[in-house]
Amino acid sequence: MHYRQTRAEISSSAIQHNAKWVRRAMAGGKLLGVVKADGYGHGVGPAVQALTPYVDGMAAGFMEEALAVRDSGYKGPVVILEGCFSNKELTLCCEQQLSPVVHCEQQLQAIEQAKLRAPLWIWLKVDTGMHRLGWSQEQAQQALSRLQSSDNVAGVTLMSHLANADAEHSLNAAQKQLFYQLSGTLSGYQARSFHNSAGLLNPATQWALQDDDWARAGLLLYGVNPSTVTEVQPELQPAMRLVAPVIALHKLKRGESVGYGSGWSAEKPSVIATVAMGYADGYPRQAKNGTPAMIRGHRVGLAGRVSMDMLTIDVTGIDDVQLGDDVELWGPDVDVRQVAACADTISWHLLTGVSGRVPRVLL
Ligand SMILES: *Cc1c(COP(=O)(O)O)cnc(C)c1O
Repeated sequence: MHYRQTRAEISSSAIQHNAKWVRRAMAGGKLLGVVKADGYGHGVGPAVQALTPYVDGMAAGFMEEALAVRDSGYKGPVVILEGCFSNKELTLCCEQQLSPVVHCEQQLQAIEQAKLRAPLWIWLKVDTGMHRLGWSQEQAQQALSRLQSSDNVAGVTLMSHLANADAEHSLNAAQKQLFYQLSGTLSGYQARSFHNSAGLLNPATQWALQDDDWARAGLLLYGVNPSTVTEVQPELQPAMRLVAPVIALHKLKRGESVGYGSGWSAEKPSVIATVAMGYADGYPRQAKNGTPAMIRGHRVGLAGRVSMDMLTIDVTGIDDVQLGDDVELWGPDVDVRQVAACADTISWHLLTGVSGRVPRVLL
């Protein structure tokens, strides 16, 4: 039972619309639906159920998340993006048919030394310029050859990750060229995977995906454009609508201020609505005065500092605002990218940061 009206409304049909859009945009290849971090905050179960008809596999961050994907009833390929280090995990991969990423020597040795009842499909990660995870250009062939000669390996997908795909950057073309060149010269793999959401949209990183090319899309599937490159305008539907009720209304005289630190002052007689949404719910405390929200079809702005359980908005001049009115903090009418920009962060951070005390309501 939920008494507080605060909630994140999750639209399965929006996720499905976005998945169809991504598939059309890809025109070929296979699609891995990235559902790490509880389906980017939408709930792993709802995300998996919505995506299942439209994707060829799912990606989780680590073992617990991969098991949650299986618990949601998904039977297809599941990739573990951080990979596995222990023998116990590799046994679980075998039992649950999970595909670990192998990005370093320890992980490769664990695979070579494991006693598995059936071989695993491995995603071998090469570093093409991000320098976070993956084998160097020089190490990649040896790693592939060792995997190829292990009885524990059924096949390999060669992968790499982009560092700047959301923007224009010289590393985009360089990473694409290096991955292209590597995948041309390396042997011992059966498929490859290079593009995240932004990589699919960026002209500097795109290519015509072949049957054995896997895109790994996250943010796009949840209806948010990751890209600041303007050539493409994807037709997306935001799948999360973060909503909270007005729980108080206050009339302020000119010069009176609101909230902790008195961070906003009325320049004229004003009406402030207090909303049941705070940083403990995942709304960013860094959000500036004027950060957009929507009430009764009107765009309004944040007024004063975000508290743990509440925030305040300026509803001066909007008739009929009442206790219990829903305020949209982000969703179809308030672009989460704008909220992120007003809080010096990114959409991924806001969606995955909605906390456990906010009920997810499936539409
Ligand atoms: C999270 C992740 C993705 C998905 O990224 P989006 O920008 O949300 O599409 C793809 N690949 C890897 C390796 C990731 O960690």
